Order: sequence, then structure tokens, then C-alpha cells
Amino acid sequence: MKIVVVGSSNIDMVAQVKHLPTPGETVGDACFMQLLGGKGANQAVAAARLGASVTFITSLGNDMYADVLKKQFEKEGIVTDYVVDDVHHPTGTALILVADSGENCIAVAPGANHSLLPDSVTRFEAVIDEADIVVMQAEIPYETVKAVALLANGKGKRVLFNPAPACPIDRELMNAIDLLVVNEVEASFISGLSYTGDNLDEMATALMASGARHVIITLGSRGVYMKNKKETVRISGYKVNAVDTTAAGDTFCGALAVAYSQRGLDREALEFANVAAAIAVTRMGAQPSIPTLEEVGRFKL
Ligand code: ADP
Repeated sequence: MKIVVVGSSNIDMVAQVKHLPTPGETVGDACFMQLLGGKGANQAVAAARLGASVTFITSLGNDMYADVLKKQFEKEGIVTDYVVDDVHHPTGTALILVADSGENCIAVAPGANHSLLPDSVTRFEAVIDEADIVVMQAEIPYETVKAVALLANGKGKRVLFNPAPACPIDRELMNAIDLLVVNEVEASFISGLSYTGDNLDEMATALMASGARHVIITLGSRGVYMKNKKETVRISGYKVNAVDTTAAGDTFCGALAVAYSQRGLDREALEFANVAAAIAVTRMGAQPSIPTLEEVGRFKL
């Protein structure tokens, strides 16, 4: 199966500190880590590790990180021929402070991610022609997501959209989406309904009424819920030793895209994504935590 991911790439600069500094304060003794992230990149890596042939369309900046990211994608077997080089902006960067208590404080500078404009993707129409499924998230301009979704849908391609961070979605874009994958917060924001803890059906029904064909709501440790015109499926989460939930949703989306392109959207496809994401939360970091196909197979046994 061929999956095209269109989305963000970031360098995550993480400093682990004893406590979060107050304005004007300098905290010493920080432990520094530089990690690769961005929802688009995480989902592309997940789909590649889980066996798909992946092409990633992303925009990288005018700094050394562009090279670092590209080399890492290539190591994962991801096709990078359509990566856009933005000579005017830095690569997307997230500055993250994490206190020993687990509290954090994050500033994201989207940089080159915001220059992934519609025509920088739609000129790669031939890539979309060859795709089984196109996967997008909301860390790139909305008009790009919309243009690509309409193009792909017009060609009969399947579109998975993970509107994270949450953004309003207009009807034309909703109509072009096959799989809308949201967590509870995003489901509530986009449907305009408060989440009461037991109104998943109401939120999913509202999202379907605005055009999405399949609505998948991820529920963290409680698993996943799916609704389409034919059925409603609820799958419990796996009991695992969760150490870091970063990229759980991204792993879920990448895995679901793989299973969906192979077999369509059934209980097994959701189960596959649920297993892959459960493994990811047992390990630290975003991309380092994403499992391979073999690991998912072993988990099931
Ligand atoms: P997001 O990271 O986008 O907020 P969720 O927190 O809903 O998404 O997690 C996505 C998926 O990851 C869940 O549907 C589930 O499959 C898996 N997952 C997340 N947290 C846990 C956990 N603590 N234990 C087991 N699985 C988890």
C-alpha cells in the first residue's frame, strides 16, 4: 500500500528542569534533549515502520535541522523526493520545558511548516495519483489541507484527516474526508458539543452530519470508538505500563492508515491501531516510541 502523508516536521528542544522557571528566572542544571517530532513526521514514521510505502510531503527550513530530519526520514525508508525547502524560514521548532513534577511549558515556532502552501503540494499531483490514502493533520495551513483533500477525494483517493491541534472544519472539507480521527477534546471542539463522558455517539453523529464518512474518537487509555452509517464499534484500551503518551495519537493515525489501506475500516483495523498506539505509550519520546510491524505482531500473541 502507498500512503502519502502531508504535514509538519519539527525539532523538539526539550529541557528537563527541577521546576519551571517563573518570568525572569533562570533555572540551571537542566538536562537537554533534541528530538524529532511534528505530527506529520510522526505519522509518516509510524506508517513506514508498520509496513507501508510512504511518501512524506513536508516543508523544512534553512538550517542544519532540515538535513537531520531528511536523513532520518530516509533511514526510515520514507520517500523524501517531494520535501519542500523553505529558504526563508527556520525548520519548525518546539521549545519544551518539562519539570520533574511532569508539568510542562511549550512554545511552538511553526517556521517552515507554515509555508507548506496549497500549490507547494498540489504541484505534486502525480504523487497523489499513486496513493491509496492521503493522511493529514492540522499543523500546516488549513487551506493546504483543504486543497489536498479536495484534490485527492476528486481522484477517488481516501483521505484520513486528524485535526490536531483542533480547528473548525468547513463542510466542503468535511465532505472530502473518509476518516476523521479525533481525540475527545477535538471531537468536542469540532462538533461544538461539550463532552459529558457518555455522549460519544452524539458527538460522532454531529460530525457525520457535517460530512465525515467515518468518525474515530480515540479515548486514551480507554481505547477507541468508531461510528459510520453502518455500525458503531467500541474497543477497550490495553492495560499497559504507560510511561509517555507523546505521539500515541500519531502512532494510532499512522497505523490506522496502514490497516485501512490494506483491509478497509473494520474492527481488526481499529484493533491494529489500538495495539500500535498502546505499545508507543510504554516507551519514552515521540518517534523512538513508535513500534515496528513485528512488534505489533508479537504484542498480539
Ligand atoms: P492523543 O494523543 O491524540 O490525545 P489519545 O490520548 O486518545 O490521543 O491516544 C490515542 C490512542 O493511543 C488511544 O486510542 C489508545 O489506542 C492509545 N493509548 C493512549 N494512551 C494509552 C494508555 N495509557 N494505555 C493504552 N493505550 C493508550
